[in-house]
Amino acid sequence: MQTTANSIDAPVRRTFLPFNQPDIGQAEIDEVVDTLRSGWITTGPKTKEFERRFAEYIGVRHAIAVNSCTGGLHIALAAAGVGPGDEVIVPTMTFCATANVVVHLGATPIVVDVEPDTLNIDPQCLEAAITPRTKAVIPVHLYGHPCDMDRISEIAKVHRLLIIEDAAHAVAAEWRGRRVGTLSPATVFSFYATKNLTTAEGGMITTDDDEYGERMRVWSLHGISRDAWKRYSAEGSWYYEVSVPGFKYNLADLQSALGLHQLARLEVMVQRRTELAARYHAGLCDLPEIELPTVRSGIRHAWHLYVIRLRLERLEINRAEFIERLKSEGIGTSVHFIPLHRHPYYRNRFGFQPADFPVADAAYERLISLPLYTRMTERDVDDVVKAVHRVVQRNRR
Ligand SMILES: *Cc1c(COP(=O)(O)O)cnc(C)c1O
Repeated sequence: MQTTANSIDAPVRRTFLPFNQPDIGQAEIDEVVDTLRSGWITTGPKTKEFERRFAEYIGVRHAIAVNSCTGGLHIALAAAGVGPGDEVIVPTMTFCATANVVVHLGATPIVVDVEPDTLNIDPQCLEAAITPRTKAVIPVHLYGHPCDMDRISEIAKVHRLLIIEDAAHAVAAEWRGRRVGTLSPATVFSFYATKNLTTAEGGMITTDDDEYGERMRVWSLHGISRDAWKRYSAEGSWYYEVSVPGFKYNLADLQSALGLHQLARLEVMVQRRTELAARYHAGLCDLPEIELPTVRSGIRHAWHLYVIRLRLERLEINRAEFIERLKSEGIGTSVHFIPLHRHPYYRNRFGFQPADFPVADAAYERLISLPLYTRMTERDVDDVVKAVHRVVQRNRR
């Protein structure tokens, strides 16, 4: 009977709701065209201006624009001298880039479990993983919810660890009234197409440390001394020196053109995300089959992702099937993330077992990221809510 009912009912949406869409306004488009016509398309005045305004927004002395968050994390580690023999602690519940960059430097990523509510790195697991070889820790503010930075900073101080924050999800997030980007020696943001602020591809490193900031800047462009990008301008000179074997991770003015206007709209965009998240909460909180995202007190959530967890013991279908049913209703979703310990490279190299990460592993089976972006309407959110209700009603135990 259920199958018949399903085939008769029209899906909630006739037009498919994509999981994510960027929000590019006319100002961004005009600025890109202006850049193309200006005669200076790669790193130059617009990138400098984007760095200046980003530093001002975050409330930090230095912002170094890079072509990705991955590149930024790589630079932050390299400039701190992390290399072979060193260990860097990372949470398993993250995107692979957080750990891949540690491997790129010949250091060893030490993968640890997460807290059950936020799925952020568990400070107890972090502390237990510290050895005399531990150089750094990379906390990830998962989904835009800040990590417990008080405890992490305390542990880092006692054990003399460098903190490099992966804030790919957390632009505009706050920890106890302080903006993410001001809390540690280095914080790295992502401006990838799906992120809260986008330049298509891009990233930013923030720091208050003049000397570390200067080293990261040098590492970001071939290891060439200050303002290397100026060497083709009237102010520049043909002469330069390479002091370290740096990377090629600079951000182009074409991309910063987008960033300048995205940054100007960031607060409005985050407010919109917050409203849409509240609407999800109101629409889904009566379903005992669904666990909603945690918001601890004393933080500002950046709402990069709205991630629900299925209570599988109350359902007759698994997560993959749930995602398929939502797709049939016209709703695009995703999963953030397949934990590091489940990926063949990390599993095989370190011999990880699911039981080594009980919290992340159990959570992973239940995660579904719902669409959340500024171009969504209230109607769109209501369609997703309706679709989730339908799938639950048809498949509850
Ligand atoms: C997107 C993302 C990255 C990588 O960002 P890029 O700018 O694409 O390099 C790193 N960490 C996390 C948690 C991410 O979600």
